[in-house]
Amino acid sequence: MKRSWIPLLVLMLACASTPSITNDVLETRIGEELEALRSAMPLTSALPSVSAYSSQAPTTGQAYYERNGITLKYVRERERHPEAYRHGALEMARSALNQAETPVLIYRESGVETHFEPAWPEQELEGVGIDALIGIAYVADVQFRGAEFDALVPARSGTAGYLSLWHEPSGQLIVEYRSAREDAVDGMALNAAQLRNEFGVGPIEGWSTHELRGLRVVLSKLTPEERRAISHVSFRRLAKPTGAALATGCTAGCYRMEAADAWIEVYDGAFKSDGHVFIGELDAPYAPSVHVILHEIGHAIAKRELARANRALTRCQQTCGTLVNQFNAKGRRVRPDEVESFQRMSKQLAEIQQLSKGLSVFAQSYVKSSPLNADFATVAGAGRGPTSYGWKSLDESFAEYFSLCRLDPSACQRIAPEVAVYFDSGRHLR
Ligand SMILES: [Zn+2]
Repeated sequence: MKRSWIPLLVLMLACASTPSITNDVLETRIGEELEALRSAMPLTSALPSVSAYSSQAPTTGQAYYERNGITLKYVRERERHPEAYRHGALEMARSALNQAETPVLIYRESGVETHFEPAWPEQELEGVGIDALIGIAYVADVQFRGAEFDALVPARSGTAGYLSLWHEPSGQLIVEYRSAREDAVDGMALNAAQLRNEFGVGPIEGWSTHELRGLRVVLSKLTPEERRAISHVSFRRLAKPTGAALATGCTAGCYRMEAADAWIEVYDGAFKSDGHVFIGELDAPYAPSVHVILHEIGHAIAKRELARANRALTRCQQTCGTLVNQFNAKGRRVRPDEVESFQRMSKQLAEIQQLSKGLSVFAQSYVKSSPLNADFATVAGAGRGPTSYGWKSLDESFAEYFSLCRLDPSACQRIAPEVAVYFDSGRHLR
């Protein structure tokens, strides 16, 4: 019998065991691995540089969102001596407005808008509630020019209302108070499996029923395309960060990737300000923990191509070496009727080698400069996050904007209208 020799291809570490396998099965498996790698290849393989981007903290006077907010405390004494309390708060507010030389204060409550003007020491600020006065005393400070603050107004039990304060770049102060509505409590039983099924995400582990409601709010804020982009991500609720998450400085939440795995960790720290701050608009307030989870989802969306490359590379590391060994073993003796099949397999294995090399180069450079970042950096306002946390890096700016634009569209619009368009148009998914 005439023998044909196919050049042996050494792709990866040789594996000791090469179980017997038919040609057809081998060719099918090689084809499957090739397909997996091909589909993982990013649409944009060339990585543009983002060197033009430099993270810059905004100068005073630029619009931003103050995520830390202010804490208003319920004081029982206040109900016994309301006049004394109001007088104290009024004094503080007057002094702050005077010091900041605030040109005008606009106060809105129950559909009524009142304009107040200097001279502040004589202003009675009639109709402005005690909590709003306390808020004004804090937010009027010139260091907060440009900021938006959202706070919960506490009641003896629960929340009396919501307070938003905008210290405009021009110096004017806008304050709006909305009393809390009786929210219909969603009594539906909720479990992790249902949630996973409903939104098509990875496993959800360690969440309480109450926290699952928050996660449900988060997932329902995503578009179907965004949900697809994170369908591989699982959600883990842990007490606190450990290991790499701790070393990276994650305190409230963390997006993590390891080999083929990608997951979001959410810690106790994410829920610590849920009792005194809200995020969003007055008629749709959300807990800050919702913002934390959406922020981490923002990272997952931004890094989806890297996660996909990692998954494909891990898969190939686990199987491609064995396939090469099997091919090499069979290639030592090939019947004439098998030559064509062997040539096809040889070509496919060569492509596998080329693609996995390309993917690992892509994965390595992605960390430093991704096509998504390069594109995002060209959007006006992208480089200076909507919050002080977003000024840290372009990655954090993206995650902060992603979350804020979903939860508080008018804040996003006020800070960076072009970033609002960027997310609304789905450009972050291209
Ligand atoms: Zn982050």
